Amino acid sequence: MSQKQEKSKLKNIIKECLCMKRGFVTKIPRHKNVIFTMTGGIDSSVGAEMVIKKWGCVIYPFYLKRGATAEKWEMEAVTKIVKYLKNKYPKNIKDVFMAESPVPPQEIKKNLSIKRIVSKGHPLRNPIIYNIAVQYGTALNDKGITLSTVLLGSVYSDYFPGSRPIDLLIDTLHVCVNLEEWGWQIMSPFFQSGLLAKKKFIKKIDLIRWGIRNNFPLYLTRTCTRKDELSCGQCEECKERLETFKTLGVNDLIRYKL
Ligand SMILES: [Zn+2]
Repeated sequence: MSQKQEKSKLKNIIKECLCMKRGFVTKIPRHKNVIFTMTGGIDSSVGAEMVIKKWGCVIYPFYLKRGATAEKWEMEAVTKIVKYLKNKYPKNIKDVFMAESPVPPQEIKKNLSIKRIVSKGHPLRNPIIYNIAVQYGTALNDKGITLSTVLLGSVYSDYFPGSRPIDLLIDTLHVCVNLEEWGWQIMSPFFQSGLLAKKKFIKKIDLIRWGIRNNFPLYLTRTCTRKDELSCGQCEECKERLETFKTLGVNDLIRYKL
């Protein structure tokens, strides 16, 4: 069996488990409360407006202070974007909730090899962030707020494991089994067909194009992973951003060091 076939088989098994327990794999949360894990980047920022406009969601934005190098600038970006969206859609987005939990803990982070971090990212970073977002969701449930969806801004070009469609299905199953609450789902709106007409899956270029058409303040987003205020223009994330803007033939209005 090829790797692709193996992955598809595994995906089907997980889908079957979810269907058996709750009758569906994932459900579009139209007009529902959702948690959106924000990072300050283009994907989760534009994604938040998309799900408000297209699905009528009411967003509880969530940011995890996980000890990222660019944390200060990410937080600033998330705060500004939530403010922008609150002005535009006062009924569809709440104040951002920020929690602190280093991922991975400092004591572990300092012992990880650069080779691993460069090729695969921090181990289990994404599922840990999503699980903490679910914990926030359970606390909201306990306050009487009905909610069982965690959204995040993953696109297909994300190259680290941890936020691909199969990862999100496994996380969904993991959360449901461990909570014994079968309504939970962890999903990326960009993997759901129909969010944008004629697009089965949404890519970063589609998000930037949509953002420009909808006057989204892309200049408020933070993509660079380094610690300085000005974006470096050299890290993989900056390079991808610059490349995508260039392909579209539009100017990226954030300031770069270069
Ligand atoms: Zn950079």
